[in-house]
Amino acid sequence: MGRTLGAVCKRCRREGVKLFLKGARCENASVCAMEKRPTAPGMHGLKRGKLTDYGIHLREKQKVKTFYGVLEKQFRKYYQMAERSKGNTGKVLMTLLERRLDNIVYRLGFATSRNQARQIIAHGHLLLNGKFLDIPSYLVRPGDVISVKNKKGSLELVQLALDAKVSERPEFLEFAVNESAGAKIPTGTVLREPAADDVSIKVEPQLIVELCSR
Ligand code: SF4
Repeated sequence: MGRTLGAVCKRCRREGVKLFLKGARCENASVCAMEKRPTAPGMHGLKRGKLTDYGIHLREKQKVKTFYGVLEKQFRKYYQMAERSKGNTGKVLMTLLERRLDNIVYRLGFATSRNQARQIIAHGHLLLNGKFLDIPSYLVRPGDVISVKNKKGSLELVQLALDAKVSERPEFLEFAVNESAGAKIPTGTVLREPAADDVSIKVEPQLIVELCSR
């Protein structure tokens, strides 16, 4: 599993947009570096120069990778999958990223950030279709059911995130609380594949395709 280390706010400042990498804290203007100092990081950050054509394409790709917490090697795999598909490569690429289990867990509200979602999955707090799965990069399919393990620690962890209500739940996901063995289990169902409108970041995928196909 790829991990992004170091100061995460710098990443938002580099891309010039809020990427919501710190979960609930990103809503707090007095904490968010993009609200306080939206310049590029580094001592010459104030003089954000004009980007070259290559730079514009590269920044678009880096923005998406940072947003979904994906490293270059894995991003290339998604690009190759999208390229082999019949649809528009850029749109398919974005929907593949949106189908990652860590993103789905975050968008269901089971975690306050994608980073936390990755951790919750890797630490075995969730079940997929009733079975143990600890792979954050798993690509969900319509009909998949994600539920919280019936364990006190797992339920408390997810309930804290649900109470924080950080992300908006998209229409392709259904949320319910099911009763099982006397416990209330938060459960999410994937109703359909995410469409281009469901993608949670505003980007121009065509720029990424142009860069990756060079
Ligand atoms: Fe980005 Fe602001 Fe969140 Fe830091 S607090 S990760 S700058 S959105």
